[in-house]
Amino acid sequence: MLKRFLAHHRFSGLLLGLSGTLALALLLFWMGSKPQEEEPYLPSDSEIMAALEATDFHNSLIPPLTPPPDWDRYTLQPGDRLSHLWQQKWHLPISTLYQLLDQEGSSHLNRIHPGQHIEWLASRDGQLLALRIWRTRAEGVEWQREDEGFSFNELTTQREVRLLRLEGTLDGVLSNSLSEMPEIAGQEGAIAAALDRHLPLRRDARDGDRFSLLIEQEWLSDDPTPYSTRLLAFDYQGDRMQIRAARHLDDGRFYTPDGVSLIPPFDRIPLTRRYRISSNFNLNRLHPITGRTSPHHGTDFATPTGTTVVSPADGRVVRGRTHSFGGKYLVIDHGQGYITRYLHLRRFLVNQGESVKRGQPVAQSGNTGRSTGPHLHYELHINGRPVDAMRVELPSVESLEGESLDDFLQHSEKLFSGLDNQLHLDKLAQLLPNQHE
Ligand SMILES: [Zn+2]
Repeated sequence: MLKRFLAHHRFSGLLLGLSGTLALALLLFWMGSKPQEEEPYLPSDSEIMAALEATDFHNSLIPPLTPPPDWDRYTLQPGDRLSHLWQQKWHLPISTLYQLLDQEGSSHLNRIHPGQHIEWLASRDGQLLALRIWRTRAEGVEWQREDEGFSFNELTTQREVRLLRLEGTLDGVLSNSLSEMPEIAGQEGAIAAALDRHLPLRRDARDGDRFSLLIEQEWLSDDPTPYSTRLLAFDYQGDRMQIRAARHLDDGRFYTPDGVSLIPPFDRIPLTRRYRISSNFNLNRLHPITGRTSPHHGTDFATPTGTTVVSPADGRVVRGRTHSFGGKYLVIDHGQGYITRYLHLRRFLVNQGESVKRGQPVAQSGNTGRSTGPHLHYELHINGRPVDAMRVELPSVESLEGESLDDFLQHSEKLFSGLDNQLHLDKLAQLLPNQHE
């Protein structure tokens, strides 16, 4: 602990002595490189209430349910179009892409090709903070958000990818069981959070459950801590759940060895018929009076009071509360980082803690809280960020099919061999697609 404190302290002192650009670069690098060490962030009721009181309820009704921003990564596939990826898969504002295409370094964005590796860091409200495109393992370019626009830099570094296989028995919370493994010292929280996203650990994990995890770490030369850590596959054998799954290269989602998705299919709207949309999702909405940015993190449907609201996917009700701004509101967790919220309801048709099925009535819309008329305010959050539920690409299949299934079976077979200790990890690392060369 003391060592960590000193390291941070020295870091702060160093920051003071640097100019703005370099300081921001270091800060962004630091944010990307230091893994989260806490359990997934679940705000208390009083925190939620404080946040609600402090802000217009349309801004950010409830603090994010997941940890602060971390780098996202993507390997370009044949046929990928940047504008499509940008909006539909990465959930970034398209105006930011146009901004980057209009400044220094734009040729790197125009020349992307399959196999290239892209990383980006977004703020909690979905704004791009930094973007990196790697040409090779050691060479890339980077844009970083500054006061006015973005700065552009060439990157040179040396990276190494290592695979780790972790095996353990659950004893208390998962991060405790992981904390006894020296090879992931300091990262147990991040790894526990990754697994928590895919499994109903809080509900179904029991002491004595056995698990094995296949982890990929990336190291930069001269840095004593890994630059990034990623879960590739896992096997969980417990009293109340037995699940084995691997990450699919195409979409980053997890599937069972047969290609069955761990995330359920999603309906576009949480209603049984279409209603007029009275206000769209808009991260850059300007407040008509103050002129300040006042984002609208949801979609408003002009539903008469008493309209049945249905769950767009299988999930579990994690909140059903009342607040003076949001009125009666409901939060459903659908797993793998997908969370939906519903505001201004008249009444709930399900209880907190209850499991719900896709299409199941969960509430009646209303006009409760600070609302200008009867409507349903509907939000979809993916990995802690609000996204436009009317436009974002949604999980649509129970199982992979065709070419995508073939690709998954071929790739996951190697991952499972590594997970089961039938394939040496050095050998496996050579077999996996190299993301930087
Ligand atoms: Zn709204």
